[in-house]
Amino acid sequence: MRIFVTGGAGFIGSALVRHLIRNTGYEVLVYDALTYAGTLNALAPVADNLRCRLVHGDIRDGTAVLAALRDFRPDIVTHLAAESHVDRSIDGPGAFIDTNVVGTFTMLSAARAYWLDLAPADRATFRFHHVSTDEVFGSLGPTGLFTENTPYDPRSPYSASKAASDHLVSAWGHTYDLPVLITNCSNNYGPYHFPEKMIPLMIVKALAGETLPVYGRGENVRDWLFVDDHVRALQAVFERGKPGRRYNIGGNAERRNIDVVETLCATLDRLRPRQDGRSYVTQIGFVADRPGHDLRYAIDATRIRDELGWTPRESFETGLEMTVCWYLGNEAWWRPIVAAQAADIRRGLNNAM
Ligand code: NAD
Repeated sequence: MRIFVTGGAGFIGSALVRHLIRNTGYEVLVYDALTYAGTLNALAPVADNLRCRLVHGDIRDGTAVLAALRDFRPDIVTHLAAESHVDRSIDGPGAFIDTNVVGTFTMLSAARAYWLDLAPADRATFRFHHVSTDEVFGSLGPTGLFTENTPYDPRSPYSASKAASDHLVSAWGHTYDLPVLITNCSNNYGPYHFPEKMIPLMIVKALAGETLPVYGRGENVRDWLFVDDHVRALQAVFERGKPGRRYNIGGNAERRNIDVVETLCATLDRLRPRQDGRSYVTQIGFVADRPGHDLRYAIDATRIRDELGWTPRESFETGLEMTVCWYLGNEAWWRPIVAAQAADIRRGLNNAM
Protein backbone atom coordinates (compact mmCIF):
# COMPACT_ATOMS: atom_id res chain seq x y z
CA MET A 1 0.00 0.00 0.00
CA ARG A 2 1.08 3.57 -0.62
CA ILE A 3 -0.10 6.28 1.77
CA PHE A 4 0.08 10.00 0.92
CA VAL A 5 0.20 11.94 4.20
CA THR A 6 -0.35 15.70 4.11
CA GLY A 7 0.98 17.47 7.20
CA GLY A 8 3.28 14.50 7.82
CA ALA A 9 5.95 16.69 9.44
CA GLY A 10 3.53 17.95 12.11
CA PHE A 11 2.71 16.50 15.50
CA ILE A 12 0.11 13.84 14.59
CA GLY A 13 1.21 13.38 10.98
CA SER A 14 4.79 12.55 11.99
CA ALA A 15 3.54 10.12 14.64
CA LEU A 16 1.47 8.43 11.92
CA VAL A 17 4.44 8.24 9.56
CA ARG A 18 6.78 6.83 12.26
CA HIS A 19 4.10 4.29 13.16
CA LEU A 20 3.47 3.17 9.56
CA ILE A 21 7.15 2.86 8.69
CA ARG A 22 7.95 0.92 11.86
CA ASN A 23 4.90 -1.34 12.00
CA THR A 24 3.80 -1.94 8.39
CA GLY A 25 5.40 -2.50 5.01
CA TYR A 26 3.60 0.52 3.51
CA GLU A 27 5.32 3.18 1.44
CA VAL A 28 4.66 6.67 2.77
CA LEU A 29 4.94 10.03 1.06
CA VAL A 30 4.91 13.09 3.32
CA TYR A 31 3.53 16.18 1.59
CA ASP A 32 4.20 19.18 3.83
CA ALA A 33 4.85 22.90 3.48
CA LEU A 34 7.06 22.87 6.62
CA THR A 35 5.38 25.83 8.25
CA TYR A 36 6.40 26.88 11.76
CA ALA A 37 4.56 23.74 13.01
CA GLY A 38 6.34 21.22 10.80
CA THR A 39 9.76 19.89 11.83
CA LEU A 40 11.86 17.48 9.81
CA ASN A 41 13.42 16.29 13.08
CA ALA A 42 10.11 14.63 13.91
CA LEU A 43 10.70 12.38 10.88
CA ALA A 44 14.40 11.80 11.57
CA PRO A 45 13.80 8.42 13.28
CA VAL A 46 12.48 7.00 9.96
CA ALA A 47 14.00 9.38 7.40
CA ASP A 48 16.64 6.86 6.24
CA ASN A 49 14.00 4.26 5.43
CA LEU A 50 13.58 3.89 1.68
CA ARG A 51 9.79 3.50 2.13
CA CYS A 52 9.54 7.08 3.44
CA ARG A 53 9.83 10.13 1.20
CA LEU A 54 9.16 13.83 1.52
CA VAL A 55 7.74 16.36 -0.91
CA HIS A 56 8.05 19.94 0.28
CA GLY A 57 4.79 21.39 -1.04
CA ASP A 58 1.75 23.44 -0.19
CA ILE A 59 -1.74 21.91 -0.18
CA ARG A 60 -3.07 25.15 -1.70
CA ASP A 61 -0.99 24.50 -4.83
CA GLY A 62 -3.28 22.20 -6.80
CA THR A 63 -0.81 21.64 -9.65
CA ALA A 64 1.91 20.53 -7.24
CA VAL A 65 -0.48 18.28 -5.29
CA LEU A 66 -1.73 16.58 -8.46
CA ALA A 67 1.82 16.08 -9.76
CA ALA A 68 2.84 14.51 -6.43
CA LEU A 69 -0.23 12.25 -6.48
CA ARG A 70 0.38 11.10 -10.07
CA ASP A 71 4.04 10.46 -9.35
CA PHE A 72 3.49 8.49 -6.09
CA ARG A 73 0.20 6.76 -7.07
CA PRO A 74 -1.19 6.36 -3.54
CA ASP A 75 -3.93 3.95 -2.46
CA ILE A 76 -4.82 6.27 0.43
CA VAL A 77 -4.63 10.03 0.97
CA THR A 78 -4.61 10.92 4.67
CA HIS A 79 -5.11 14.66 4.96
CA LEU A 80 -3.76 16.19 8.16
CA ALA A 81 -2.14 19.43 6.93
CA ALA A 82 -3.79 22.34 8.68
CA GLU A 83 -3.35 25.39 10.82
CA SER A 84 -4.13 23.83 14.18
CA HIS A 85 -3.73 26.29 17.07
CA VAL A 86 -6.95 27.87 18.41
CA ASP A 87 -5.19 30.92 19.92
CA ARG A 88 -3.51 31.71 16.60
CA SER A 89 -6.91 31.44 14.87
CA ILE A 90 -8.29 34.09 17.21
CA ASP A 91 -5.38 36.45 16.49
CA GLY A 92 -5.25 35.77 12.72
CA PRO A 93 -8.17 33.79 11.26
CA GLY A 94 -7.25 34.39 7.59
CA ALA A 95 -4.53 31.73 7.51
CA PHE A 96 -7.03 29.19 8.86
CA ILE A 97 -9.52 29.87 6.07
CA ASP A 98 -6.72 29.72 3.49
CA THR A 99 -5.11 26.50 4.64
CA ASN A 100 -7.96 24.57 6.22
CA VAL A 101 -10.82 25.53 3.89
CA VAL A 102 -9.21 26.51 0.57
CA GLY A 103 -6.40 23.98 1.11
CA THR A 104 -8.86 21.14 1.70
CA PHE A 105 -10.88 22.18 -1.37
CA THR A 106 -7.65 22.09 -3.41
CA MET A 107 -6.75 18.66 -1.98
CA LEU A 108 -10.20 17.32 -2.86
CA SER A 109 -10.04 18.68 -6.40
CA ALA A 110 -6.58 17.18 -7.00
CA ALA A 111 -7.50 13.88 -5.37
CA ARG A 112 -10.63 13.61 -7.50
CA ALA A 113 -8.69 14.31 -10.73
CA TYR A 114 -6.16 11.64 -9.73
CA TRP A 115 -8.91 9.18 -8.71
CA LEU A 116 -10.82 9.58 -12.00
CA ASP A 117 -7.72 8.45 -13.90
CA LEU A 118 -7.38 5.22 -11.89
CA ALA A 119 -8.42 1.83 -13.23
CA PRO A 120 -11.92 0.88 -11.94
CA ALA A 121 -10.55 -1.66 -9.41
CA ASP A 122 -8.12 0.91 -7.95
CA ARG A 123 -10.84 3.57 -7.96
CA ALA A 124 -13.01 1.33 -5.80
CA THR A 125 -10.34 0.81 -3.12
CA PHE A 126 -8.96 4.38 -3.06
CA ARG A 127 -9.74 6.41 0.10
CA PHE A 128 -9.54 10.13 0.91
CA HIS A 129 -9.32 10.34 4.69
CA HIS A 130 -9.77 13.73 6.38
CA VAL A 131 -8.39 14.06 9.90
CA SER A 132 -10.51 16.46 11.94
CA THR A 133 -11.33 17.53 15.45
CA ASP A 134 -14.14 17.15 18.01
CA GLU A 135 -14.17 20.96 18.29
CA VAL A 136 -16.50 21.10 15.26
CA PHE A 137 -19.33 19.97 17.58
CA GLY A 138 -19.14 23.05 19.82
CA SER A 139 -19.42 22.92 23.58
CA LEU A 140 -21.14 20.42 25.90
CA GLY A 141 -22.72 21.15 29.27
CA PRO A 142 -21.71 19.13 32.32
CA THR A 143 -23.13 15.90 30.84
CA GLY A 144 -23.49 14.23 27.42
CA LEU A 145 -21.09 13.06 24.72
CA PHE A 146 -20.42 13.96 21.09
CA THR A 147 -21.55 11.20 18.72
CA GLU A 148 -21.12 11.04 14.94
CA ASN A 149 -24.65 12.47 14.66
CA THR A 150 -24.13 15.51 16.91
CA PRO A 151 -24.93 18.65 14.85
CA TYR A 152 -21.97 20.89 14.06
CA ASP A 153 -21.72 24.06 16.15
CA PRO A 154 -18.15 25.40 15.86
CA ARG A 155 -17.27 28.40 18.04
CA SER A 156 -13.68 29.43 17.20
CA PRO A 157 -12.20 30.42 13.83
CA TYR A 158 -10.15 27.19 14.03
CA SER A 159 -13.13 24.91 14.64
CA ALA A 160 -15.24 26.79 12.06
CA SER A 161 -12.52 26.26 9.44
CA LYS A 162 -12.30 22.55 10.32
CA ALA A 163 -16.11 22.25 10.19
CA ALA A 164 -16.12 23.87 6.74
CA SER A 165 -13.45 21.46 5.54
CA ASP A 166 -15.40 18.47 6.93
CA HIS A 167 -18.46 19.63 5.00
CA LEU A 168 -16.44 19.94 1.78
CA VAL A 169 -15.09 16.40 2.21
CA SER A 170 -18.58 15.08 2.87
CA ALA A 171 -19.91 16.94 -0.20
CA TRP A 172 -17.20 15.42 -2.44
CA GLY A 173 -18.32 12.01 -1.21
CA HIS A 174 -22.01 12.64 -1.89
CA THR A 175 -21.69 14.65 -5.10
CA TYR A 176 -18.76 12.99 -6.87
CA ASP A 177 -18.73 9.53 -5.18
CA LEU A 178 -15.16 10.11 -4.02
CA PRO A 179 -14.61 7.42 -1.32
CA VAL A 180 -14.14 9.70 1.69
CA LEU A 181 -13.70 9.09 5.41
CA ILE A 182 -13.76 11.69 8.20
CA THR A 183 -12.44 11.22 11.73
CA ASN A 184 -13.13 13.66 14.57
CA CYS A 185 -10.72 13.26 17.46
CA SER A 186 -10.30 14.83 20.88
CA ASN A 187 -7.17 16.59 22.22
CA ASN A 188 -3.95 14.71 21.51
CA TYR A 189 -0.72 14.85 23.48
CA GLY A 190 2.65 13.11 23.21
CA PRO A 191 6.17 13.46 21.75
CA TYR A 192 7.01 16.17 19.18
CA HIS A 193 3.98 18.26 20.19
CA PHE A 194 4.75 21.88 19.30
CA PRO A 195 5.43 23.76 22.54
CA GLU A 196 2.62 26.29 22.05
CA LYS A 197 -0.04 23.66 22.90
CA MET A 198 -1.10 23.28 26.51
CA ILE A 199 0.76 20.18 27.74
CA PRO A 200 4.18 20.82 26.14
CA LEU A 201 3.86 24.55 26.90
CA MET A 202 3.38 23.77 30.58
CA ILE A 203 6.36 21.37 30.59
CA VAL A 204 8.77 23.86 29.03
CA LYS A 205 7.55 26.74 31.20
CA ALA A 206 7.78 24.60 34.33
CA LEU A 207 11.39 23.67 33.54
CA ALA A 208 12.20 27.34 32.82
CA GLY A 209 10.81 28.37 36.24
CA GLU A 210 8.12 30.48 34.56
CA THR A 211 4.43 30.93 35.42
CA LEU A 212 2.18 28.12 34.16
CA PRO A 213 -0.65 30.13 32.55
CA VAL A 214 -4.05 28.49 33.09
CA TYR A 215 -7.05 30.08 31.34
CA GLY A 216 -9.87 31.34 33.63
CA ARG A 217 -10.05 29.08 36.68
CA GLY A 218 -9.00 25.98 34.70
CA GLU A 219 -12.56 24.59 34.74
CA ASN A 220 -12.73 23.77 31.01
CA VAL A 221 -12.92 20.04 30.37
CA ARG A 222 -11.23 18.23 27.49
CA ASP A 223 -10.92 14.57 26.55
CA TRP A 224 -7.27 13.57 26.12
CA LEU A 225 -5.81 10.89 23.82
CA PHE A 226 -2.16 9.79 23.56
CA VAL A 227 -1.04 10.47 19.99
CA ASP A 228 0.10 6.88 19.30
CA ASP A 229 -3.41 5.68 20.11
CA HIS A 230 -4.79 8.23 17.65
CA VAL A 231 -2.55 7.04 14.82
CA ARG A 232 -3.60 3.41 15.38
CA ALA A 233 -7.20 4.61 15.08
CA LEU A 234 -6.38 6.48 11.85
CA GLN A 235 -4.84 3.33 10.39
CA ALA A 236 -7.90 1.27 11.36
CA VAL A 237 -10.18 3.81 9.67
CA PHE A 238 -8.33 4.16 6.39
CA GLU A 239 -7.76 0.40 6.15
CA ARG A 240 -11.20 -0.85 7.20
CA GLY A 241 -13.59 2.12 7.60
CA LYS A 242 -16.65 2.25 5.37
CA PRO A 243 -16.44 4.99 2.69
CA GLY A 244 -18.77 7.89 3.41
CA ARG A 245 -18.67 7.12 7.11
CA ARG A 246 -17.36 9.28 9.96
CA TYR A 247 -15.75 8.01 13.13
CA ASN A 248 -15.30 9.78 16.46
CA ILE A 249 -12.04 9.02 18.26
CA GLY A 250 -11.53 9.72 21.98
CA GLY A 251 -9.49 8.66 24.98
CA ASN A 252 -12.27 8.27 27.51
CA ALA A 253 -10.14 10.57 29.65
CA GLU A 254 -12.03 13.74 30.51
CA ARG A 255 -10.01 16.12 32.66
CA ARG A 256 -10.40 19.75 33.77
CA ASN A 257 -7.46 21.85 32.55
CA ILE A 258 -6.42 22.58 36.12
CA ASP A 259 -6.34 18.83 36.87
CA VAL A 260 -4.15 18.24 33.82
CA VAL A 261 -1.68 20.91 34.92
CA GLU A 262 -1.62 19.69 38.53
CA THR A 263 -1.02 16.08 37.38
CA LEU A 264 1.76 17.34 35.13
CA CYS A 265 3.33 19.22 38.06
CA ALA A 266 3.16 16.11 40.25
CA THR A 267 4.81 14.05 37.49
CA LEU A 268 7.60 16.60 37.10
CA ASP A 269 8.01 16.76 40.91
CA ARG A 270 8.81 13.03 40.80
CA LEU A 271 10.92 12.94 37.63
CA ARG A 272 12.77 16.29 37.77
CA PRO A 273 12.29 17.88 41.23
CA ARG A 274 12.84 21.62 41.51
CA GLN A 275 16.16 22.51 43.11
CA ASP A 276 14.45 24.45 45.93
CA GLY A 277 12.36 21.38 46.85
CA ARG A 278 9.03 23.18 46.23
CA SER A 279 6.37 21.73 43.92
CA TYR A 280 5.90 22.98 40.35
CA VAL A 281 2.28 23.61 41.43
CA THR A 282 3.53 26.86 43.00
CA GLN A 283 4.22 28.14 39.47
CA ILE A 284 0.54 27.91 38.40
CA GLY A 285 -1.02 31.30 37.62
CA PHE A 286 -4.53 32.01 36.34
CA VAL A 287 -4.83 34.29 33.28
CA ALA A 288 -7.77 35.94 31.47
CA ASP A 289 -9.91 33.32 29.77
CA ARG A 290 -9.70 32.65 26.01
CA PRO A 291 -12.59 34.45 24.20
CA GLY A 292 -15.44 32.01 23.42
CA HIS A 293 -13.70 29.25 25.38
CA ASP A 294 -15.82 26.06 25.02
CA LEU A 295 -16.64 24.56 28.42
CA ARG A 296 -16.50 20.85 27.78
CA TYR A 297 -15.75 18.33 25.02
CA ALA A 298 -16.32 14.59 25.44
CA ILE A 299 -16.41 11.81 22.86
CA ASP A 300 -18.57 8.74 22.39
CA ALA A 301 -16.18 6.41 20.53
CA THR A 302 -18.55 3.43 20.43
CA ARG A 303 -18.66 3.22 16.63
CA ILE A 304 -14.92 2.87 16.06
CA ARG A 305 -14.71 0.39 18.95
CA ASP A 306 -17.61 -1.79 17.74
CA GLU A 307 -17.01 -1.60 13.98
CA LEU A 308 -13.21 -1.50 13.82
CA GLY A 309 -12.15 -2.93 17.19
CA TRP A 310 -10.11 0.12 18.20
CA THR A 311 -9.64 1.18 21.82
CA PRO A 312 -6.93 3.35 23.38
CA ARG A 313 -4.03 1.48 25.03
CA GLU A 314 -2.74 4.30 27.24
CA SER A 315 -4.51 5.78 30.22
CA PHE A 316 -4.08 9.53 30.66
CA GLU A 317 -1.60 8.91 33.49
CA THR A 318 0.63 6.47 31.56
CA GLY A 319 0.50 8.61 28.41
CA LEU A 320 1.34 11.75 30.35
CA GLU A 321 4.28 10.10 32.08
CA MET A 322 5.68 8.94 28.71
CA THR A 323 5.19 12.45 27.35
CA VAL A 324 6.98 14.14 30.26
CA CYS A 325 9.85 11.61 29.99
CA TRP A 326 10.10 12.34 26.27
CA TYR A 327 10.36 16.12 26.81
CA LEU A 328 12.93 15.63 29.56
CA GLY A 329 15.02 13.45 27.25
CA ASN A 330 14.61 15.50 24.07
CA GLU A 331 15.51 19.05 24.98
CA ALA A 332 17.54 19.21 21.74
CA TRP A 333 14.23 19.08 19.83
CA TRP A 334 12.23 21.69 21.72
CA ARG A 335 14.81 24.18 23.04
CA PRO A 336 15.62 25.66 19.58
CA ILE A 337 11.88 25.96 18.86
CA VAL A 338 11.25 27.77 22.14
CA ALA A 339 14.26 30.05 21.52
CA ALA A 340 13.04 30.87 17.98
CA GLN A 341 9.55 31.64 19.29
CA ALA A 342 10.97 33.95 21.95
CA ALA A 343 13.01 35.75 19.27
CA ASP A 344 9.87 36.11 17.09
CA ILE A 345 7.95 37.57 20.02
CA ARG A 346 10.75 40.06 20.69
CA ARG A 347 10.58 41.11 17.02
CA GLY A 348 6.76 41.36 17.21
CA LEU A 349 6.20 38.52 14.72
CA ASN A 350 4.23 36.20 16.98
CA ASN A 351 1.76 37.05 19.67
CA ALA A 352 0.16 33.62 19.91
CA MET A 353 2.01 32.48 23.04
P1 NAD B 1 0.39 20.56 13.53
O1 NAD B 1 0.10 22.02 13.56
O2 NAD B 1 1.34 19.97 14.52
O3 NAD B 1 0.92 20.14 12.08
C1 NAD B 1 0.36 20.63 10.90
C2 NAD B 1 1.28 20.25 9.75
O4 NAD B 1 0.68 20.72 8.53
C3 NAD B 1 2.67 20.86 9.83
O5 NAD B 1 3.66 19.90 9.51
C4 NAD B 1 2.64 21.96 8.78
O6 NAD B 1 3.91 22.23 8.21
C5 NAD B 1 1.66 21.39 7.77
N1 NAD B 1 1.00 22.42 6.98
C6 NAD B 1 0.37 23.54 7.42
N2 NAD B 1 -0.09 24.25 6.39
C7 NAD B 1 0.24 23.57 5.25
C8 NAD B 1 0.01 23.80 3.87
N3 NAD B 1 -0.62 24.90 3.43
N4 NAD B 1 0.46 22.87 2.98
C9 NAD B 1 1.11 21.76 3.41
N5 NAD B 1 1.37 21.51 4.72
C10 NAD B 1 0.94 22.40 5.63
O7 NAD B 1 -1.03 19.85 13.64
P2 NAD B 1 -1.43 18.49 14.39
O8 NAD B 1 -1.69 18.79 15.82
O9 NAD B 1 -0.48 17.43 14.01
O10 NAD B 1 -2.85 18.21 13.71
C11 NAD B 1 -2.94 17.50 12.48
C12 NAD B 1 -4.38 17.45 12.05
O11 NAD B 1 -5.17 16.80 13.06
C13 NAD B 1 -5.02 18.82 11.85
O12 NAD B 1 -5.84 18.76 10.72
C14 NAD B 1 -5.83 19.05 13.11
O13 NAD B 1 -6.94 19.86 12.85
C15 NAD B 1 -6.25 17.64 13.45
N6 NAD B 1 -6.48 17.37 14.89
C16 NAD B 1 -5.56 17.74 15.82
C17 NAD B 1 -5.78 17.43 17.16
C18 NAD B 1 -4.77 17.78 18.23
O14 NAD B 1 -5.05 17.62 19.42
N7 NAD B 1 -3.57 18.24 17.88
C19 NAD B 1 -6.95 16.77 17.55
C20 NAD B 1 -7.87 16.41 16.56
C21 NAD B 1 -7.60 16.70 15.22
